[in-house]
Order: sequence, then C-alpha cells, then structure tokens
Amino acid sequence: MSLHIPRLGVIGVGLIGGSLARALRTAGCVGHVVGVSRDAAHLQRAQALGVIDSWQTEIAQGIKGCDVVVIAVPLGAMRSVMEQIKPILNDAMVVTDVGSAKGCVMADMQSVFGRVLPGFVPGHPIAGTEKSGVEAAITDLFNHRRVILTPLADTQPTALNTVREMWRACGAQVCEMSVEHHDEVLAATSHLPHMLAYALVDTLARMQERREIFEYAAGGFRDFTRIASSDPQMWHDICVHNREALLAMLDRFQDDLSALRQAVDTRDGQYLKDTFTRAKQARDKFCNH
Ligand code: NAP
Repeated sequence: MSLHIPRLGVIGVGLIGGSLARALRTAGCVGHVVGVSRDAAHLQRAQALGVIDSWQTEIAQGIKGCDVVVIAVPLGAMRSVMEQIKPILNDAMVVTDVGSAKGCVMADMQSVFGRVLPGFVPGHPIAGTEKSGVEAAITDLFNHRRVILTPLADTQPTALNTVREMWRACGAQVCEMSVEHHDEVLAATSHLPHMLAYALVDTLARMQERREIFEYAAGGFRDFTRIASSDPQMWHDICVHNREALLAMLDRFQDDLSALRQAVDTRDGQYLKDTFTRAKQARDKFCNH
C-alpha cells in the first residue's frame, strides 16, 4: 500500500525539514504541508519557494489536524517544542523527529510527557550539508542515504511503519537501532569529525601568519574542513546533548593522536607506515563499498 499523508506538519522548515517536505511532495505522498517555526519571514520564504502550502508561528495551532508531525528543530529547541505541542497531541497523530542525537530527545520527551509516547518515532537522517535554512533545502537530500530510527519496545507498529514508509518515499534506506547505539555510532562517525574540522581550522585561523597559510590550502584541506562551515549553534547543541558518547570518542582519539605524535617525535617510521596503511585500507574499502 502506498503512503499518503493528507496533512503533514513540519516544525522547523530549515535544511532538513524543508528537504523532507520537498521530497515528499515530489514523491506525491502528501496532501497539504503546513510549516511551523518562530520567524514569519522564514516561513513566508518557504511558502514562496513552494516547500510548504501554509504556515503558522503558533506551534500548537499549526499542528492541529495534522496526520504526521515532523520535529526538525535544533536539539536545544526540542523540549520547548514538545511543551508547546503537548495540549494538541492525540493518539491518531504520528510524531517523529530528525535530531542528530537520540538519548537527549527521549529524555526531553520523558520530562515533558512523563513517558515516551507510543506514537512517537525517533529518527535521524544521515544526510545533510554544511548549509542551513530553507534556501538550502533540496529534493534529493535523502535519496540513497540512510535514515536511522530508534523505536522503543512500546512504539506503535503503525506509527513506526508510517515513518519508515515516509523516509522510503524520499529514497532513503531505513534501518533501526537502539538509542544508545545510535548515539555512540554518530559520536564516532559524525560528531568527532566535526570537532576535528572545527579545531583544525580554528588552530590555523589563530596563527599569526594565517593569511598566507590559507592561501596555500589546497583541495585536501578543503575536503577535510568543509564541515567546519556548519552551523555553530547546531553543533553546540549536538556537543551538549551527546556529551558522554562524544567525550568517550574524543578521549580515544586523543590517545591515538598522542601515539602518532610520539612516533613523529621518535622517528618511528614503522608505526607511521602501519597507521597510514591501516587507515588507507579502511577508507578505500569503505569508499568503494
Ligand atoms: P536549520 O536549517 O537551521 O533549520 C532549523 C529550523 O528550526 C529553522 O527553520 C528554524 O526556523 C526552526 N527553529 C529553530 N528553533 C526553533 C524553535 N524554538 N521553535 C520552532 N522552530 C524553531 O537546521 P537543520 O540543519 O535543518 O537541523 C534541524 C535538525 O536536524 C537538528 O536537530 C539537527 O540536529 C538535525 N540534523 C541536521 C543535519 C544537518 O546536516 N544539518 C543532518 C541530520 C539531522 P525559525 O528560525 O523560523 O524558528
């Protein structure tokens, strides 16, 4: 049976919420899309771009009558959004989110509702760019990309199925894992690399001769540091909300970087070659996958 969502509510019509709305519209599986956020000018722009059909800045009012509601706001705004939608939610409504960490979203829901609602399906599309806002939203952002859902034991199977089908309609490959596993995996593969990119660019930017340094920065530097152009507020939120898992990865990486430093210091060529060979093999395998 093909998916049809008569009325979709998107809270936060930015890169992710806007791209989802665009993709679902292109797939022909939504009727009306209502966009909700704080700033009327952002929502007017989203409507002018054809991403949403109507908009509301009053969250509870905006999601009234929606069949599916997607919360696509920064992690730091999740709790406040939940508080505002609380009076309107009913059992027939399917609610999902796109937050980059999942433990914090479950904790927010627990504190606002006293439990995790069975109609709530936590989700995270493993897709994005370093850009933000509805202007950056593109139809095929999720095509051939993964989306991780982290349902709990009492998540309603019908709600889970609707959210699964919603992402499949965008061309995504949907998988499921536990909240804890998600946060560990993403700390390693996404959150740590963002820390490294930000730290490297900041270190170089604060060196006195930085103008000259950046003039000599070639493709490799651009490739490695592209993600340091990501939204600072969003990454602040991710660090704060996935603190434990990120700290564990930072500690582990710091140990390995210290060992690499030691090998450079002691001219331990074998250690350097072994490390680079292992890394090259791992990356070549992963990239040709
Ligand atoms: P974005 O482009 O900045 O969009 C965020 C949207 O949320 C904006 O439209 C903003 O609109 C709205 N918003 C912010 N605070 C709000 C509040 N208190 N109440 C209502 N609306 C609010 O950010 P994004 O990149 O789409 O990220 C959204 C979520 O997706 C985040 O949780 C992030 O962790 C997750 N995510 C991001 C990526 C990525 O690569 N960017 C990938 C996967 C998941 P107004 O300013 O008009 O309120």
